[in-house]
Amino acid sequence: MSAHSLLLLPGDGIGPEVMAEVERLIDFFNKKGKVRFETSTELVGGAAIDKHGVPLTEEALGMARAADAIVFGAVGGPKWDKVAYGIRPEAGLLRLRKELDLFANLRPAICYPALAEASSLKREHVEGLDILILRELTGGTYFGEPKEIVTLENGQKRAVDTTVYTTFEIERIARVAFDLARARRNKVHSAEKRNVMKTGVLWNEVVTATHAREAKDVELQHILADACSMQLVRNPKQFDVIVCDNLFGDMLSDEAAMLTGSIGMLPSASLGAADAKTGKRKALYEPVHGSAPDIAGKGLANPIAAIASYAMALRYSYGLVKEAELIEKAVANTLAQGYRTADIMQPNMRKAGTAEMGKAIVEEVEKLAA
Ligand code: NAD
Repeated sequence: MSAHSLLLLPGDGIGPEVMAEVERLIDFFNKKGKVRFETSTELVGGAAIDKHGVPLTEEALGMARAADAIVFGAVGGPKWDKVAYGIRPEAGLLRLRKELDLFANLRPAICYPALAEASSLKREHVEGLDILILRELTGGTYFGEPKEIVTLENGQKRAVDTTVYTTFEIERIARVAFDLARARRNKVHSAEKRNVMKTGVLWNEVVTATHAREAKDVELQHILADACSMQLVRNPKQFDVIVCDNLFGDMLSDEAAMLTGSIGMLPSASLGAADAKTGKRKALYEPVHGSAPDIAGKGLANPIAAIASYAMALRYSYGLVKEAELIEKAVANTLAQGYRTADIMQPNMRKAGTAEMGKAIVEEVEKLAA
């Protein structure tokens, strides 16, 4: 049986605590499953600054390039607030994203039935929700030039941001959307503003052409980004994958994520281009939350975002869809049994720490796999 290579970068604060629960699952698969993972662990963020003086060493970057996938914890904390800007803990993560050219950001919004009451929407709209926002991460309004504030002759100021996209950038994110949809419910909504923006017109044209050429097996619908935002709170279950540019993706992914509850539950992934020879993509999976210094070291952190990030790695980097579903089902069952970390605690539920939640999820995986 060949092993999948996996680099673990736990980082700082609650990063190592939630990563320990991911490792519990990796141990399960290595001992009992039909798949095997060869893991390495490296320092990143503040932990790397303390040991090496930089938030990401060249060696760690080399390991990141070589790995089939990376699972990242979180970085940062008050201890490193005063280090030079260029070597602050977050610079390690930004460098990884840049060096691996991770242009596709995936933010799923999954609502576990047991937590449906905690959503701000009515239960029937969110129970069983499972959608994925795919955001272009390296182009568009946040990077376009000119980007400036100039002072005019009359003393007023004028600010400019420029939204720029090329055919290449739109094609490659559209391709990711179709690939992802094939591993899900096979439906893509492409959201833009073609009614008022030239980038929207091009976006629409290129997505349409890419679909016609490469992905006729996937259902494609176009939707205006503002209508998409409205539909997300009106009837979110109509969506499977939503693909959009950097700016709209920033808004829509936060909106979708918050349909489902605590930050301790939210996984994410960033993918690069597919290798021409192997078809494999560079990929980094990480919880949306940060290092949570306020609860670090107390065993209180919710490990579900990290565990769900690992499940995403199984699905999208290794094609292990059944194993990913096994973990997701185990998380749902554990919540249904009443286990709650402090951040998602509800009346009459069983309060669990990080390790207790992690153990309960692994036990459930064991039961489901038996
Ligand atoms: P945060 O996400 O760390 O914490 C926000 C709040 O959510 C805190 O009250 C925290 O206790 C809670 N929380 C977060 N994750 C949780 C979990 N798994 N279980 C239970 N509760 C959880 O954001 P912040 O406080 O703004 O930032 C703290 C540090 O993390 C800063 O140094 C920031 O720069 C860094 N940060 C890193 C990343 C990253 O590594 N990707 C992302 C965001 C923030």
